[in-house]
Amino acid sequence: MIDYHTHHPNPAGGNLCAVTMADWPRIAEQKGMTPCFGVHPWHAHEVQDPADFAFELDDWLYRHPSAQVGETGLDASDKHLPTLEAQRLLLHLHLGAAFRHERLVHLHCVRAHAELLGILKERARCNTLPRVLLHAWSGSHELAREFLALGAVFSVGLRELSHSKAEERYARIPEGKLFPESDAAPESWPRTLALFRLLRGGFNCR
Ligand SMILES: [Zn+2]
Repeated sequence: MIDYHTHHPNPAGGNLCAVTMADWPRIAEQKGMTPCFGVHPWHAHEVQDPADFAFELDDWLYRHPSAQVGETGLDASDKHLPTLEAQRLLLHLHLGAAFRHERLVHLHCVRAHAELLGILKERARCNTLPRVLLHAWSGSHELAREFLALGAVFSVGLRELSHSKAEERYARIPEGKLFPESDAAPESWPRTLALFRLLRGGFNCR
């Protein structure tokens, strides 16, 4: 099973996500991994020229037909709340590019699930919604159901899988919609995979 969302190369293979634009050349050249081009919401405010960013993202996606988009999203935690407006603008640019190029987009979401859900629903209504992955998913099953209705998939790491409510949160997410991730902690991968297989009852052990 591959590492569905990571920022470090994993011998198991997987989706290698950028944090800033400076990562893109290194990520594009990493053997055995699917590159994901984007700017993490924590760094959204560092993008000086959003129009130039959108042009660059389009260009990199044209040149890398198997690449995905991300990491992008919304983080409304106290620390990142002041940059939420910049995060929103960049999120829309990522979603637009992912839709145009028919790529999966990796989403980070903290304390902004209602807003993110609203944005995705509006895109679905306008037929401009790309395929989305919600990484580090720790929402309720009720919330998961709303995102599932929009075609979303989820990835979970060691922190989410170790939570006392993990069984309750993830047991009802259908096969093929939930995947393991190491995110920024490559050393967590073996334990993450073991816990993930345990939670999924062995169905995903192939
Ligand atoms: Zn990440």
